[in-house]
Amino acid sequence: MRSLLIVLGDQLDRDSAGFDDFDPERDAVWMAEVVEESTHVWSAQQRIAVFLSAMRHFRDEQRVLGRTVLYRELAPTAGPEEPTSLAQALAEDVATHRPGRLVVVEPGDWRVRAALKSAAAEIAVPLEIRTDRHHLCQVEEFAAHAQGRKQLRMEHFYRWMRRRHGVLMDGDSPVGGTWNLDSENRSAFGRAGPAMIPEPVVFPPDQLTGNVLALVRSRFADHPGDLTDFSWPLTPAQAQRALTDFIEHRLADFGRYQDAMWLGEPWLYHSRLSVALNLKLLSPRAVISEVEQAWQRGDVPLASAEGFIRQVIGWREYVRGLYWTRMPEYAEANALGATRSLPDSFWTGRTPMVCLADALGQTLRLGYAHHIQRLMVTGLFAQLLGVSPRSVHEWYLAVYVDAVEWVELPNVIGMSQYADGGIMASKPYIATGKYIARMSNACRSCPFDPAVRVGPTACPFTTLYWDFLLEHDERLGGNPRMSMQVRNARRLSADEASEIRAWAAEVRAEHG
Ligand code: FAD
Ligand code: SF4
Repeated sequence: MRSLLIVLGDQLDRDSAGFDDFDPERDAVWMAEVVEESTHVWSAQQRIAVFLSAMRHFRDEQRVLGRTVLYRELAPTAGPEEPTSLAQALAEDVATHRPGRLVVVEPGDWRVRAALKSAAAEIAVPLEIRTDRHHLCQVEEFAAHAQGRKQLRMEHFYRWMRRRHGVLMDGDSPVGGTWNLDSENRSAFGRAGPAMIPEPVVFPPDQLTGNVLALVRSRFADHPGDLTDFSWPLTPAQAQRALTDFIEHRLADFGRYQDAMWLGEPWLYHSRLSVALNLKLLSPRAVISEVEQAWQRGDVPLASAEGFIRQVIGWREYVRGLYWTRMPEYAEANALGATRSLPDSFWTGRTPMVCLADALGQTLRLGYAHHIQRLMVTGLFAQLLGVSPRSVHEWYLAVYVDAVEWVELPNVIGMSQYADGGIMASKPYIATGKYIARMSNACRSCPFDPAVRVGPTACPFTTLYWDFLLEHDERLGGNPRMSMQVRNARRLSADEASEIRAWAAEVRAEHG
């Protein structure tokens, strides 16, 4: 055998650089299901099933193309012979097949890249790591963009990317004369709630997925979440249908209601495309181009097309650049010195806080929450409680079906927990319960009151928000973007401040 092409669970791209010189006569694809990938963080059942099912679909497609695929399936129960790690499985198969070299496209995870490199060194087979062409910005390009800048900011990066790729451009200027229409994208639904939201297209399990679900139910029975509502796109054709469905039915209102929340409505106008994108079943270039065309045809407003494209060409590429230029130290960042453990409710979904129960409930049931739920409900609560960023990161990596470390970690460590001290976000995303009251209907049925700071009816977000400002006064006081919030906290009388601190201790004890 000349080459063994390693294809990881988040590399299901049939046009990847790994296939550039693939010769079916002399090369083989290698894929492995190993238990470590589901247990290094205690992964939710939906997440495990997404990866295993998409991998098996990819394997079958490759075999139809006439390629040899060496594939290790997990058995329903662990046998004594079963390798526990990717490195061990690889070493065993290399010993059997004796390839002249190993080829892999850049993994999406620092841990996996390190493991593959050391496995290859140990078994003394050369490992060639190839560029991941799925992405619109290579890590070296990001590093060059970042070099010499006092502060990294997504907005600068985003404009640079728009220009480089000629997206929504009119010559050298942005179409419509403005780069960023975020100010038009912050509407709530109002008292009456959302109008009829078109249901997204769903993909009921086929036979292959059915087998995977049975495997996950038996082998990972003690992992969180459940599989009842499993409906993710798991092949390129399904991913394309999901994209078309989103553009035709929900993109037009995506922009306006991007930040809105509503109890019992998990999808709203969001695309549900992160799984397909992160598994590389869908190309971000195709996504951006189809969204731009929808705007050009006049089917959707510019604010929606721009808002969506900003997430994909901006945030998604930006977090990847940050991840690869800052790892491995980034994973240990803890600028605010937070050390508490994650509350049990994050694993059970049980809490009287209605907004949190809703976000956690759908997370455990579907493996999904949209951005504002992740940032301003679960993430905010963990940050205000003072949970250690590492355990917050491990929870996010475990529970979301779209969680791959390069995208999850900077969003948690940088954006949501401010654990990097301001590298990714210019200030902590903190708010009282009034923000949630404005953006959703949750507070109407909640036993707590977002306007109350202390006492049994106080909203825990509100209590902890003020306590957070008091606790981090010195650090936040030096940040001009926080000056108003810090000034308001400094206006509290000594009695008010000590009442808040005492009540915050009660809230923390309750969520211990
Ligand atoms: P839409 O709202 O329809 O957005 C469209 C696409 O834009 C998404 O599919 C995604 O590819 C991209 N996107 C949007 N926001 C971001 C962002 N901040 N960073 C990177 N890409 C973005 N996204 C993941 O893909 N995997 C994760 O593990 C993940 N963890 C997150 C953790 C936290 C604490 C936060 C605040 C955000 C996280 N995100 C993550 C970003 C975002 O929440 C999800 O991409 C989005 O909710 C996925 O749902 P959707 O496909 O319906 O997205
Ligand atoms: Fe959430 Fe507070 Fe509103 Fe209750 S009152 S739903 S805890 S923000």
